[in-house]
Amino acid sequence: MGNRGNRSISFLVEQCLIGEQPCSELERKIAKLETENSFLRLQIARSDLPAACDVEKQQAMSDLKVSEEHFRLLVQGVQDYAIIMLDTQGRVMSWNPGAARIKGYVASEILGRHFSCFYLSEDIAAKKPEMGLEIAKSEGHYEEEGRRVRKNGQIFWALVAITPLWDDDGVLRGFAKVTRDVSESKRTEAKTHLMAELAINAMILVDSRGLLVMVNPQTEKLFGYTQTELLGQCVEILLPQSFRANHPAHRERFFADPSVRAMGAGRDLFGCRKDGTEFPVEIGLNPIETNDGLMVVGSIVDITERKRAEEKSRQHLSELAHAGRLSTVGEMFSGLAHEINQPLAAASNYARAGIRMAKSNDGATREQLQEWLEKTAAQADRASEIVRRLGTFMKKGRSIRTELNINRLIENVLTLPMLLTSPVDRAARANIHLELEEPIPSIVADKVQIEQVLLNLIRNANEAMIGLAESDRNMTIKTERQQEWIQVSIRDTGHGVPVELQTQLFSPFFTTKAEGMGLGLSISRSIIETHQGQMFVESNPGSGTTFRFQLPINNREEAR
Ligand code: ADP
Repeated sequence: MGNRGNRSISFLVEQCLIGEQPCSELERKIAKLETENSFLRLQIARSDLPAACDVEKQQAMSDLKVSEEHFRLLVQGVQDYAIIMLDTQGRVMSWNPGAARIKGYVASEILGRHFSCFYLSEDIAAKKPEMGLEIAKSEGHYEEEGRRVRKNGQIFWALVAITPLWDDDGVLRGFAKVTRDVSESKRTEAKTHLMAELAINAMILVDSRGLLVMVNPQTEKLFGYTQTELLGQCVEILLPQSFRANHPAHRERFFADPSVRAMGAGRDLFGCRKDGTEFPVEIGLNPIETNDGLMVVGSIVDITERKRAEEKSRQHLSELAHAGRLSTVGEMFSGLAHEINQPLAAASNYARAGIRMAKSNDGATREQLQEWLEKTAAQADRASEIVRRLGTFMKKGRSIRTELNINRLIENVLTLPMLLTSPVDRAARANIHLELEEPIPSIVADKVQIEQVLLNLIRNANEAMIGLAESDRNMTIKTERQQEWIQVSIRDTGHGVPVELQTQLFSPFFTTKAEGMGLGLSISRSIIETHQGQMFVESNPGSGTTFRFQLPINNREEAR
């Protein structure tokens, strides 16, 4: 019996030392063992030497010896706890090395003295030591965290547990008392508290269930709650409604793999005040081991001002880009005049010829008249098409940006009637292979403008493959997320672009096609750039060309 008890005590002591069992667990076990020992003593005392009981008595005495020896060894081996026995009056009856280390007395100085000498004088005056014994007696256990005095007068923080020891007849035999010096953790706690109080950031301590264990004054100021309103609440109370449902899963992931990190890297995060208003935040997470298990310290910075400044500079950049585009248009003007003058002059020639014919009635046929009028109309259309395309390029403020899924947009463009029915596109239609990453974060963009870019690139790819056998006309449209970008690439197996021409492709009016206007790529690049994106061209290793553009992902959706 005794051996079994001692083995589990050593286990408990170990557990207490590494902080996995509360001190009182150890102390309860010791009390139990002490009761078992007293039971054995009682058995010996009761066996009033009738011969038949001799064997039983012998056995009980040897059990007691073993049990007491183990108990003594165990208690003597413990350094980090003061484990002492008190008699019924509170006088010290046993003393272990832990007690000597924590309280500073050697056994000979303290045995027989009343345990109140470990208390502060005001606590003695308030009869705290006696009260502790009384409560232990009436409730079976007493536990307290409080200040105690060492032999040299130094005060320390102690975690104390007292358990009464009863014998089999219900007579009080004394008390078991276990004390642990918790000054160091108290000091650390106080320092942590002070640091949180002084921090300029809002700091919160959250346990593994997601409950707020500590918040500093900055948190109260930032979120508009009082400390009492926050403590014990789920941390989700500080998030906007739309983020709350997903947050527990993020939390669990963090606790499964805790590390110091910024929360939601690359995403926009928001806090929510008590009055329901939202504001952008940046959050740093720091896991810490505490006596109550793993927790996380969150430091929250309100970045409203920074965001405002960023938005301002973005607007400024966009204005600059617009100004830049206008100056490009300025540079374009001579080219534009030339481009438009050509069809206008042709249209005017055809129209004049028609007028002349109508006036002179010199025998020209009705068919010829019809042909000239058709040519006039076609040239006028061409001029107006140039003006229309440039119009989209120059307009600012007309663009309507919405949240878009680029994959759906591509699928949509591929079904546009102009791509399916125009004679050129029909003649040049390629085998289209889609490699669309799913799911893909959304973008915020002008649908019509991005469709225009896709249409331009698909048409160009089709046209670059005219003349090839159908099985050689292959176009791959690929989407993928690349860090903070969505990248779209359109690869063809067409005639390719000579290296020396690659830099000119994006210049307005550059074309190698008889019917080309040379505006598609310059307008496309400009559209992508006004969406804070970029566009590139590269030759494929085998044959053909790849056009790529990248657009920033929608941060707001990511955060959700
Ligand atoms: P356009 O198509 O009216 O010529 P763009 O600005 O769209 O105007 O294209 C400019 C030029 O870039 C084209 O004339 C062509 O020489 C070249 N180009 C565009 N796309 C491709 C492609 N996929 N393969 C080869 N060359 C291309």
